[in-house]
Amino acid sequence: MEIFNDGLPKEVFQLITENEYEKPNEVAFCSVTDLLRTPKEFWLKRKYAEGLKVGASNFIESIYGTIWHLGFETMYNKKKFNTYEQETRMYFKILVDDIPYIIAGKPDLYNKEEKSLKDFKETSVWTIINGSRIDHWEKQLNIYAYCMNYGFWTDENIEIRNEELLETRQVDSLSILYKCRDWRKGENIRNEDYPSKVGEINIRMYLKSETEELIANLIREKVKYQYYNVDDIPECVMEERWQNPEQYAVMKKGGKRAVRVCATKGQAFGVMKQSNHPHSELYIQVRESEPTKCKDYCLYAEYCNWYKKWLAEKNNT
Ligand code: SF4
Repeated sequence: MEIFNDGLPKEVFQLITENEYEKPNEVAFCSVTDLLRTPKEFWLKRKYAEGLKVGASNFIESIYGTIWHLGFETMYNKKKFNTYEQETRMYFKILVDDIPYIIAGKPDLYNKEEKSLKDFKETSVWTIINGSRIDHWEKQLNIYAYCMNYGFWTDENIEIRNEELLETRQVDSLSILYKCRDWRKGENIRNEDYPSKVGEINIRMYLKSETEELIANLIREKVKYQYYNVDDIPECVMEERWQNPEQYAVMKKGGKRAVRVCATKGQAFGVMKQSNHPHSELYIQVRESEPTKCKDYCLYAEYCNWYKKWLAEKNNT
C-alpha cells in the first residue's frame, strides 16, 4: 500500500507514514486487526493492498492512538514510571483443525501492577451512546489477553519460535480508554446520559476456551474462502457495513418533520390510518440508509462488487 499526501501538513503526513509502514513479521498468518475483519474485507485486502494508493487523511483517526502513546511514553520516561508497558508486538500460535497459525498483535497499554490491559480508541460519541463497537472491542482485547496470558514471542525471537522463549504477562482485567472526537459541551450540560468526553469502559473477560473458540472460528471463516474469487465471497452484513435498516417516515404535505418514523411500510400505513389528519394530507417518505463503512472507511470499497453495485443502483435512482 502506498500512502500519499492528500493535503496534510508535512509533519502529520510523516507521523502517519512512519506509523502505518511498520508491519508484523511475515511468518504471521495475519494480525488481530485483520482477523477481526469480515472475510470479504480480509481477502480484498490480501488481493489489492499491495498496489493500493491511499490518501494519508484516511489514517487521521488511527493516528490519535499513536499520539496518546507518545504522550504516555514521554510522561513515563520523565517520571521514571515502569508500571506500564506499551506497544510490544506479540505473536502467538494456535492450532486450528491441526494446522498451526501465527497471529500478530500489538496491545496498547499494560499495567503491570493492576495486571490490566487497556486499549485507546478515538471514536464518535454515538459509538459510546449506542455501544455499537463494544462487541468488536471485546473480541480484540480478549484475543490480546489470551496471547499475553498463555505465551507469545516478540519480534526478537519470532523467527526461532522456540517454546522456551515464550513470554507471558498476566492479564486480569480489560478496558477501553476512549475519547469522543465529536463531543459537544452544550449537549453534555443538557443531557445527563451524555457520555464524558474521555472515559474508560470495562470490558468482559472471556474464559480461555471461549477465546480459543472465537479465534478458531475467525480463522476458519477466512480460510474457507481462500480459493474463492473475491466477488463470490458473501458481502459484509448490514451491521458490518455500519448501515441502519431503511425507515418509513409518515409526512404531512408541506411539513418538514415526520409525524412518525416507522421500521416497516406496513406500520407507516397503520399510522396513516389511525391519524387525525385527513389521509390525503399524508404521504410516506422512504428514508434509505447508507453503508457508512463502505462509503467512508473501507479502503477496499473501490474493488468490492457489492459496494460498486450499491453505488450504481443509487446513482440510477
Ligand atoms: S465495501 Fe463494504 S461490503 Fe465491501 S468489503 Fe468493504 S465494508 Fe464490506
